[in-house]
This record gives sequence, structure tokens and C-alpha cells, in this order.
Amino acid sequence: MTFHAKFSGYADPALHAAGLYIGGKWQSGSGITVLDPSTGNLLAEVADAAIEDAQRAVDAADAAAAGWRATPARQRSEILRRWYQLMTQHAEELATLIALENGKALADARGEVAYAAEFFRWYAEEATRIPGEFRHTPSGSHNILVDHEPIGIAVLITPWNFPAAMATRKIGPALAAGCTVILKPASETPLTAYAMARLGEEAGVPPGVVNVLTTSNPGGITNAMLADPRVRKLSFTGSTGVGRVLLAEAAKSVVSCSMELGGNAPFIVFDDAHLEAALDGAMIAKMRNAGEACTAANRFYVQAGIHDAFVAGLTARMKSLKIGPGYDPETQCGPMITQNAVRKIDRLVSEALAAGARATTGGKPLTENGYFYPPTVLENVPVNASIAREEIFGPVAPVYKFESDDEAIRLANNTEYGLAAYIYSRDLKRAMKVGKRIETGMLGINRGLMSDPAAPFGGVKQSGLGREGGVTGILEFMEPKYFAVDY
Ligand code: NAP
Repeated sequence: MTFHAKFSGYADPALHAAGLYIGGKWQSGSGITVLDPSTGNLLAEVADAAIEDAQRAVDAADAAAAGWRATPARQRSEILRRWYQLMTQHAEELATLIALENGKALADARGEVAYAAEFFRWYAEEATRIPGEFRHTPSGSHNILVDHEPIGIAVLITPWNFPAAMATRKIGPALAAGCTVILKPASETPLTAYAMARLGEEAGVPPGVVNVLTTSNPGGITNAMLADPRVRKLSFTGSTGVGRVLLAEAAKSVVSCSMELGGNAPFIVFDDAHLEAALDGAMIAKMRNAGEACTAANRFYVQAGIHDAFVAGLTARMKSLKIGPGYDPETQCGPMITQNAVRKIDRLVSEALAAGARATTGGKPLTENGYFYPPTVLENVPVNASIAREEIFGPVAPVYKFESDDEAIRLANNTEYGLAAYIYSRDLKRAMKVGKRIETGMLGINRGLMSDPAAPFGGVKQSGLGREGGVTGILEFMEPKYFAVDY
């Protein structure tokens, strides 16, 4: 792995991991370039795994599987707890790494590290509370005993937008359940994953229990691993398009899948909402990670009576944000991940403007170096514009006016996605009634942030299958085994 001066100066050299991590050994290499999205300059170059490396990773995960499964839950728990503590101790370095390779503002990166580490703490606690069941059959003929066993080797694939948290949200429950894993982080943000693997080693994770591969051939490597009968689980977070491809591939060997896919969250503001609270919530729901979040508010439906005041308030707040590199402590809105991401946002905004929308702030990509798009508010957006159907994944807030509760529900549900939704109203009964009719896996009521390691995270419709976090997250990495017992 090659590091460039800027990167070396910013992060703790102890966290500069050296390439593929397989069976507890580091294998240096090159081939995947990591860019600083605020300049487009090279930050580092990391190893590029070939199919044989993936096969070796499965061998390593298999060699470690029996030992890890037999390790007492208390011991697995203590290793996860130490990993949590090490992440907390190294929080500032990890946040800097995230800000460098992902571009998000340091405040967001610090928030991510805290959130990410919490998955290790939460699953350190859950490791010792794996449930079982004992029942009598209705006929009284025998007893039903249900055990939960680790599902087997798990392949974990994560996106670039939360390079630490999407990994710990999978590794935490998998290790707590007794599974060994192969993590494939996104090519744009591998440094955080490698740094965390270093900390895992220090925490006492045995060789082969966690393996990390970066590759320029994600399809080839994943297909090879899914075809190996020892691999029993695929846990994927990323786009719905890639999720569909992976579900089809996993079907060939009937591998269990958990899918955390795209979102198109509606943010509904009723006339009776507390305006300032709704604006605070809107800024969090829209601007955490500069809009590059699956839970990001993608469509603002605002009732006619509060619409103009909401647009004015949101415009003022969005206009005031300081744009810059994520690692600059003053920055509130960092760059997008790639130039392609900027192009996609530009297309969606241009199409909305051509269809009659008006930008009250922003509306065009910035022209200086790096992949910047300014905070943007659009009003008068047609409800059938492409920006209402596609994930924006950027700092753009399209606002749509509505009149009745039924209309808001119909508009909110008019999407193939169903990950997150938000409602602002002082009338909790109304918010709950509307909330029950919204097709979503998660709903924030008078809150712009819902992610919590103790809560079940996931979506309905084409936003995914299964849940991560909470008490159910560990069961995604376990198989129930039923014993019919006659004494
Ligand atoms: P992506 O393009 O789907 O990539 C996600 C991961 O899949 C990356 O590691 C990528 O590797 C890998 N990948 C791509 N093609 C693959 C293939 N054929 N086989 C196996 N792996 C493959 O998504 P992204 O652009 O990184 O992330 C943004 C998306 O993730 C958004 O849609 C967002 O909503 C979603 N997301 C969802 C959640 C959730 O919890 N529901 C959370 C965060 C993000 P490379 O990087 O090497 O291409």
C-alpha cells in the first residue's frame, strides 16, 4: 500500500494498515487508488484482491470457524468490548481518515465513529444474551426446543458513505453470533476498514475471524465466494441495483441474504408542526454527510399553510453552510464522493428546473477543484419529476406543497423504496395515524435522526430485506435449530 504525504500527515501511522488482511496476515499490494474528493488528488493506493485471494480468505474464515464458534460467548463479548474501547480511544484518527477518504465534514465523521463503535458495545452485550425457546406442543405429545446456531461464514459488503459504521453494524452481530467473516469495503473508502481491522487485531480478534479484501473486481470475487458451499451468509449494504444482482447470484447456492439498500425518504411537515423544530430536523435529515445517506430526506412534502415559511427558513439555513474539505474543522458541507455523483445531482436538478422548479439557493455544481455541489433548495417541484423518484444522494432539498393528509400519504408512498420517513406535527395522534399508513421500515416523528445501534434498522419494498442493529440484528447471523424432544 502506498501513502501520500497529505494522508501520512493527517492520520496516526499506527493505523496505516498494509493491504489485504487474510488469516491474520497483512499482504501488501497496489492497484486501487484512493482519491481525496475535495481535490481529486491521490491519497493512497491499496491492494487489489484477485479471485485466489478471495478463496484464501474463505479458507482462513473456515479454518477459524470452529474455534470461534466454540469460544465462550463471554469471551467473544469481551473482545468486541475491547474493540469498542480501541475505536473510542482512536476516535479522532478514525474520524480524520473518514473525512479524508470520504470527504464528509469532521463533525459528521466524529459522529460516525461514535455510532460505529456503539455497534461493538451493543453486540458485546447481546453476545451473552442469545435467545432460545422451550415450548409444549399443542397436542402435548412432545416438547419443542429451539436453539440458535451461528449461520456460518459471512461475506459482508459495505458502501463508501459510512465506511466505519456499515462495517461494524455487520461485524458486531456476526462475531457476537459466532460467525467468521470476510469484509469487502467500498473501493473509494478502504482505509477506514483497514484501520479498524488493525484495531480488531489489537483487541484480540483471532486470525481468520475477520478478513478484509479490497478489489477492483467486486462481482468476480463475490460470485466466487458465494459459489463456495462454506459461505452461508451475504450481508450487503449498497444500492438497490447491485442488491438485485447479488440476490440473483446468491440464489444459485441458496445463500441467506440481508440487504440494506437504497432509500427515497419523504419528510412530511404538517401545518401544525413547530416550524423551528421542523427546520432543525430537516437540516439533520437532509445534511448529515452532505446528503449522502440512505436515510436522507429526499422529498420534502410541506402543507400549504406552513409551506412558504418552511422554504424561507430552509433556504436561509442551507445558504449559511460553509463548504470545504471535510478535514477542515470549519467545514459544514464537504464534497461529494466522486465527479459522477456530482453529475447525477446536476442532472436531477437540471431536469427539475426545466420542469418548472425554482432554486431558492444553489442549483449548479461549483466549478473549483474537487467534487463540490452547493446546498440547494428547490420549490415548486412537479411531483412526478425524476428528482422525486431517484435517490439524490447530495445536498439538495426539493420541496413539494400538499393540502390534505391523504394526499401526503399517497405522495410519500409513491416510490419503489421504503427505508425511512419523517413526520413533523404537534398532534401526535395525527402523526401516528399517518405514520401507520406510510410504507417504511423506519419513521422519525418530530425527529430528523433515527439511527441507533439498539434499534432495528432496515427497509421495506425495494429498500431491503432483514434488519441490522437492535435485538434482532444478531439473528440475521444465526439459524434456528428445532429439537423435537420426547422424554
Ligand atoms: P454500490 O455501488 O451498490 O456499492 C456498494 C458495495 O457493493 C461496494 O463495496 C461495491 O464495491 C460493491 N459492489 C458493486 N458491485 C458489486 C457486485 N457486482 N458484486 C459485489 N459487490 C459489488 O453502492 P454505493 O454507491 O457504494 O452506496 C450508496 C448506496 O448505498 C445508496 O443507494 C444508499 O442508499 C445505499 N445505502 C444503504 C444503506 C442502508 O442501510 N439501507 C446504508 C448506506 C448506504 P466497489 O466500491 O468496489 O464498487
